[in-house]
Amino acid sequence: MLGIIGGGQLGSLLAIAAEKLNIKTVILSDDTNAPAKNFTPNFICGNYEDEKIINDFISKVDLVTFEFENIPYKVLKNINENKTVLPRPEINKLLQNRYTEKDFLNKNDIRTTRYTLIKDEDEIKINQSLIPGILKTCTLGYDGKGQYTINSLKDFNETIDFNKEYILEKKINLKKEISVIITRFGHQKYELYEPIENVHEDQILKHSKIPADISDSIKDKSINWATKIVEDLDYIGTLCVEYFIDKNNNLYVNEVAPRVHNSGHLTINTHNISQFENHIRAVCGLEKIETKKLYDGRMFNLIGNDISIYRDKTFKDNEFFYDYLKTEIKEKRKMGHLTVIEK
Ligand code: ADP
Ligand code: MG
Repeated sequence: MLGIIGGGQLGSLLAIAAEKLNIKTVILSDDTNAPAKNFTPNFICGNYEDEKIINDFISKVDLVTFEFENIPYKVLKNINENKTVLPRPEINKLLQNRYTEKDFLNKNDIRTTRYTLIKDEDEIKINQSLIPGILKTCTLGYDGKGQYTINSLKDFNETIDFNKEYILEKKINLKKEISVIITRFGHQKYELYEPIENVHEDQILKHSKIPADISDSIKDKSINWATKIVEDLDYIGTLCVEYFIDKNNNLYVNEVAPRVHNSGHLTINTHNISQFENHIRAVCGLEKIETKKLYDGRMFNLIGNDISIYRDKTFKDNEFFYDYLKTEIKEKRKMGHLTVIEK
């Protein structure tokens, strides 16, 4: 029995991949309406810090993985003392904080945007060289949440809650964004997907496609860095590296997600093995199968009200519609996606 922490669309798609491999899942979520409850026979709802809930979860599973990085370290560490957690809790701790994440990358000679830790307003003022910049909470941000763009100090009058820590990051003159998804099974053993090109709107992923329209040198560098990251971390499972390419064709790592990733949804239909199946295979110690691209493809996130139109549509045989079955439609909420393959 595989335990999955987190009940969003990533947890759902992991559960579907596990079922295909005849692996039973238990999903733990703190949201009673978590969409993943539609995709697993065993759903536990409760607070991640509630000892009774966690003990119930631990008693039902052989192994644990997770769909999102914002799980308190002490929760994963506690579970790991009873049942193995993969990827390792220490990796999640390192990567869930934007400051320690960027420090790790730079120590390993991997380029990121310039950044500094910010604890109060004065520290923004003394780091003028990072403006125009983006102030981001060190932890718990996603889909652009917890981010403030600072184009100039005099125009910036947001009230910032300095009970939290932030990084101030130099704004990049973005040409393109790409991601590399890699699944590591053990020392120098991995399967990777070619770089995926991503388009964001309002800091939320809107569209992904393969092949990415990039030079061979950027392609090679992005793959080499992703490989170096999983080796340096001694990582097991699927991981995603998000990159920026600036107008001068410099490559930067934006962030590293120790999990399956939205930009990899298209792999369900474009590859013989999806990012989800590879993750399950790696954490459960199953056979590594050579991962091959079958088709080029494009993925469109259906955000907010987009979903209502698609629920009534009919699709061609190269179009694949996924409804996450979320109970409430909300603005800026990822409700489903559509993948179109080039047959
Ligand atoms: P999240 O954790 O919310 O995904 P990201 O740091 O990836 O946060 O930011 C979301 C998006 O905002 C990025 O994909 C990019 O489009 C834009 N963005 C973030 N940081 C920068 C930056 N330093 N320069 C330019 N654009 C940025
Ligand atoms: Mg991101």
